[in-house]
Amino acid sequence: MKGSGIATIAVRLRQADPVFLFTHEFADGDALGSMVALVLYLRSLGKEVYAFVPGKVQTVYRFLGTDDLINTLTLLEAETRIRQSKVTCLSADAADVDRLGEWKQLFLAGAERLVLDHHDTNAGFGDMFFVDETASSCCEVLYELFTVMDASRIDRLVASALYTGLVSDTGSFQYANTKAQSLIHGARLIALGACPDEISRSIYEAKPYGALRLMGSCVASSRLLYNGQVVIARVTRAMLQQFDSIDEDTEGITDELRRVNSTRAVVLLKEAADGTIKVSLRGKYGFDVKRIATTFGGGGHLLAAGCTIESNVDEAEERVLAELDRYLGLSRI
Ligand code: AMP
Ligand code: MN
Ligand code: MN
Repeated sequence: MKGSGIATIAVRLRQADPVFLFTHEFADGDALGSMVALVLYLRSLGKEVYAFVPGKVQTVYRFLGTDDLINTLTLLEAETRIRQSKVTCLSADAADVDRLGEWKQLFLAGAERLVLDHHDTNAGFGDMFFVDETASSCCEVLYELFTVMDASRIDRLVASALYTGLVSDTGSFQYANTKAQSLIHGARLIALGACPDEISRSIYEAKPYGALRLMGSCVASSRLLYNGQVVIARVTRAMLQQFDSIDEDTEGITDELRRVNSTRAVVLLKEAADGTIKVSLRGKYGFDVKRIATTFGGGGHLLAAGCTIESNVDEAEERVLAELDRYLGLSRI
């Protein structure tokens, strides 16, 4: 654990009003679950709260009420508000300030900047931070925080948002970050009204057909390297177009690729709309993918990390493979 304890953050947050919330770009279930849970919970304490999520919010998480709860103020409106009073800015699930995307300057303009996270690569930013790298998800950290602040305010909707983050960051309680505590927290959230089958269906069984075909194409064109230890695949803009898909439809492809018996690492190169390459890395059996991601200025966790490489997809692949050559000391084929 790094930074001030959760009790200190709780004290600051109790006094804070208004509160602006921030999370990382390409927000996942943990990021969006954290935003929704925080908006609802802090509003239940009578505070004025707004959440700012970079880019477009993934449609798969709309069941959490994201349309009504996230990005409800424009940048101009938010800037006006932040000049009028002492706004507390809180970042959740973002490993560094650059991950806040187009909302970064707004976060920095806050009168007070707090950070809650669970990424070990988070060195701490803002005026006060708490990073618990033993937590499976930021939502687990928030569950602890809300319990310290006032457990009676964790209603069904807050519990559902937190449970969503837990499920999505642990891969439905399957990954190595699933601790006894994660299951205890999950159980408590179910007792508070989160509905596990409904949430799992909403996250995992609500894909457009094209997304499945995209996944099929990506898996079919993947390659096994380093004596089967690494599976590498790509999603280009052309593939997205071919299957009438959008960026968020790449979610879950790494979970398919990691199923291969011999693999210890998964590399998925995704061509972003701005021409950069988003690299998703997953490790098995202790394979340190965070080390690869941080070489390219990215971050994450030991077994799940990511980075952005500014080049075309072939060059990005070559750069990641050169790093893997060094790490594995094996021939690629
Ligand atoms: P993803 O592959 O995008 O699902 O990300 C896997 C993990 O790495 C998540 O915990 C992300 O928050 C983290 N991550 C991905 N990209 C970056 C980045 N550029 N910088 C820091 N952390 C990242
Ligand atoms: Mn996340
Ligand atoms: Mn997370």
